Amino acid sequence: MNSFMPRIEISLSQIQDNARALTELYGRKGISLMGVSKAVLGEPSIAEAMIQGGVRFIADSRIENIQKMENAGISAKFVLLRTPLSQAESVVQSVTISLNTEIRTLKELSYYAKAQNKDHQVIIMVELGDLREGILPCDLLQFIRETLSLSHIKVVGIGCNLACYGGVKPGDKNMRELSELASLIEKEFQISLEIISGGNSANYEWFNSAQDVRKINNLRLGESILLGCETLNRKAIPGLHTRAFQLFAEVIESKKKPSLPFGEVCQDAFGNVPSFQDRGTRQRVIIALGRQDVLVSSLKTNNKLEIIGSSSDHIILESKDQNLQVGDEVKFNLDYAGLLAAMTSPFVKKQFVDCSDVFAVA
Ligand SMILES: *Cc1c(COP(=O)(O)O)cnc(C)c1O
Repeated sequence: MNSFMPRIEISLSQIQDNARALTELYGRKGISLMGVSKAVLGEPSIAEAMIQGGVRFIADSRIENIQKMENAGISAKFVLLRTPLSQAESVVQSVTISLNTEIRTLKELSYYAKAQNKDHQVIIMVELGDLREGILPCDLLQFIRETLSLSHIKVVGIGCNLACYGGVKPGDKNMRELSELASLIEKEFQISLEIISGGNSANYEWFNSAQDVRKINNLRLGESILLGCETLNRKAIPGLHTRAFQLFAEVIESKKKPSLPFGEVCQDAFGNVPSFQDRGTRQRVIIALGRQDVLVSSLKTNNKLEIIGSSSDHIILESKDQNLQVGDEVKFNLDYAGLLAAMTSPFVKKQFVDCSDVFAVA
């Protein structure tokens, strides 16, 4: 069971529990969820756990991940989070709804939708201050007007994304603005918008304190489902599992060594000139895991171990536990950036610890 190294152990039942709890929580104020699978590279069994937990859509930023889930037989409505362009043809093929901000792209989508004899659904993203993707509110009506003129595009909603680039907090003011823009569009064009998607895992605090969520009826959640936290302060959400993913690596060297390098010091492997404090002789441990596999700063370990350095393939730890031997395993919790990197590394085996066929490796 523990022969794969390094490996990430994944609890599908905890992910499903989290999806279920969040679906119920947000559902109380009429908000449906998209389960976001990009941090786990569209891993089909994780998407399935989200679906079993009650999310209404599976959303990913990469068409390749969506195709992977589709090919694995996941039957969900797929949403593409990153605005597509050169991939328009396959987007129309595999995706029910895509998020969009450019007319040129919408024209491409309409062209391929016509060729495939279908309508492609879109959510138009609105810029509410975070300065990643989105149409400025002053340009929105004109943009919608142009979009509505495309023959094979159906505008099913609007959305916004906050706390991603600019760190702008979702709150009553920007959520009210999104709601009002939705009303304005519905009135101006005599259409009804089915999805008003107010944001991501950073919307938790707004949601909890909101007396009235107005027209917001959808959120796109990745981190909350996977890691059980909100993302403004990375606080755990009550009742959710925060350790559905754990990373294991093996000790490949364990020795007492001085804390001060000897010899002439110049650049390290990454072009920095390191400086060191003399802390005497310490028990040092090297694990077979490196910057190619994980974002080292995002590893969380127990207080007996301290990460003191890393290179492409090695992480060096100081150990208060004198007994850590070669061949032992070291366990880490991960934050979102670490999860993303570990799931992306081809060297980290993905192992499901609580599914019915005991374990599976992706
Ligand atoms: C990644 C992403 C999300 C999910 O963000 P979390 O913080 O993981 O909930 C939502 N919307 C868009 C557009 C995204 O790119």
